[in-house]
Amino acid sequence: MTYLCIDIGATKTFVGIGERGFEFITKIKTDKFLDEPNLEELPMDDIKKAVIAVPGPLDRENGVIYPPNIPDKKVDMVELLSSDIDTFFLVNDCSAGVVGEYVFGDVRASNMVYITISSGIGAGVIIEDNLIEGRMGNFAEIGHIKVGGDRRCGCGGEGHWESYCSGDNLPEFALELTGKEFKDSEELFLKYREANSAAKKTIEKMKEYNAAGISNVVNAYSPEVIVLGGGVAVNHPEVITSDLESMLEKDVICEMPEIAVASLDDRSVLFGLLAFCQLDEKTDILKSQDTSIRPLRHDS
Ligand SMILES: [Zn+2]
Repeated sequence: MTYLCIDIGATKTFVGIGERGFEFITKIKTDKFLDEPNLEELPMDDIKKAVIAVPGPLDRENGVIYPPNIPDKKVDMVELLSSDIDTFFLVNDCSAGVVGEYVFGDVRASNMVYITISSGIGAGVIIEDNLIEGRMGNFAEIGHIKVGGDRRCGCGGEGHWESYCSGDNLPEFALELTGKEFKDSEELFLKYREANSAAKKTIEKMKEYNAAGISNVVNAYSPEVIVLGGGVAVNHPEVITSDLESMLEKDVICEMPEIAVASLDDRSVLFGLLAFCQLDEKTDILKSQDTSIRPLRHDS
């Protein structure tokens, strides 16, 4: 049996095909993939199980996703892919991310929270070796934790963590805070390294808000490890992690977790999907929602 793993991100979609590992991985722009998937260009022979990760809301029962950054769009993944595939499973991308790091990553821990800081902010949670999901697999929208201030969030709320610190929102936050324009978050980090004062002021505020958000997550779950993933974290790990532990200490009331950066880089989600595929093949996880992943644990 061959597995099809699809990580649908805000702007790019990773497609991985394989069995024990990936034999084929490609990256496609998300809008192109959803509008004209061109599956005939992919080695789709003998695929029996498709597992799909998406950051936005998902309807696991009906195999339907509502892609991020494309308002009012609804995609029936079963229809889009093929009727020949026996099993489809939809999962929140951060849930897949934590499973990827837990099964294939460098850090071993029974209690792990994966936090993505990318176009948005979200989390995947494993407690006592079990994946914790919310209703119908929609969960851990920690980007909407209130961290202070009144900056308007994309969701309509105010003072939410991702309204300041996500890759999409950082440039606008910088403009509001300093009056200086940065074309994207990459330029902001570049200018920070060049000791630009507006970039420095923004990044320092970002670090405060990140510490506020992460301390809430630590107090909620008391994980052994926080794994930071997503483009902003994996591209700028030294900026994101420096001083973080000392900043967390004043608000964290449980034992401090280890802070790590995703060892699978931007592939944590894709490898998490592979781990889901390698669950007991007889289990229809779409129906049973049996997401216990204990059997996959490596003890190395
Ligand atoms: Zn919000």
